[in-house]
Amino acid sequence: MTKGNQLYEGKAKKVFETDDPELLIVSYKDDATAFNGLKKGTIVGKGVINNRMSNLLMQRLQQADIPTHFVQELSDRETLVKRVTIVPLEVIVRNIAAGSFSQRYGVAEGVVFETPTVEFSYKNDALGDPLIGEYHAIAMKLATKEEIEIIKDYAFRVNDQLKSFWASCGVTLVDFKLEFGRLSDGTIVLADEISPDTCRLWDSKTGEKLDKDRFRRDLGGVEDAYAEVMKRLTEHL
Ligand code: UDP
Repeated sequence: MTKGNQLYEGKAKKVFETDDPELLIVSYKDDATAFNGLKKGTIVGKGVINNRMSNLLMQRLQQADIPTHFVQELSDRETLVKRVTIVPLEVIVRNIAAGSFSQRYGVAEGVVFETPTVEFSYKNDALGDPLIGEYHAIAMKLATKEEIEIIKDYAFRVNDQLKSFWASCGVTLVDFKLEFGRLSDGTIVLADEISPDTCRLWDSKTGEKLDKDRFRRDLGGVEDAYAEVMKRLTEHL
């Protein structure tokens, strides 16, 4: 597989074309951003961890009949994925109150929900990725009603799989963000990444934060936290 032109450079990844029009190469960087790009930094080794972790988790999800863009890990930082057009919605699943949920609704961080929630943000940097209702997303033709039903079904199935897997690693899955894409035939698949950049992961015993909140909130020990969750994951595969 030959790496072609760079198609796109995002906050945490670069995307390259290949000689197959249906396949792309993603390359994970150590760059970290938060608060819609206002806070910038580097988390040394993050790209390697996120690449490996996302690939291992996506392979598990695929085994559970959740289609993903994953094709093949090429190196420490690079993965071959199916080319998709991203549905411009961030799909957020929550098991426990934290982050924007706690702020918006005045619910203390750590309150456990009886059933998980799902919500959407409109992927638009200029607008700051605002929360969006399903009817608004459909009206704006961001996705069809049918696609939104499929996405919600996959999102809750991803939660069931990841929640129990992380529990077996001694890690509580608080919340996470997913992105979905359409293959050239319109099939919806899970895309983007699943990593400590996109999930809140707390140590089940101590409640210690093992994710990007350490960077967002200047808690220190960011690299160690990423390495710790990666270690737990590989020990429990
Ligand atoms: N998240 C993300 N990218 C975003 C916004 C959120 O990956 O642009 C993840 C975040 O890491 C957390 C979950 O989605 O695991 C819920 O985030 P929340 O809405 O609480 O927003 P935040 O507190 O991150 O601003």
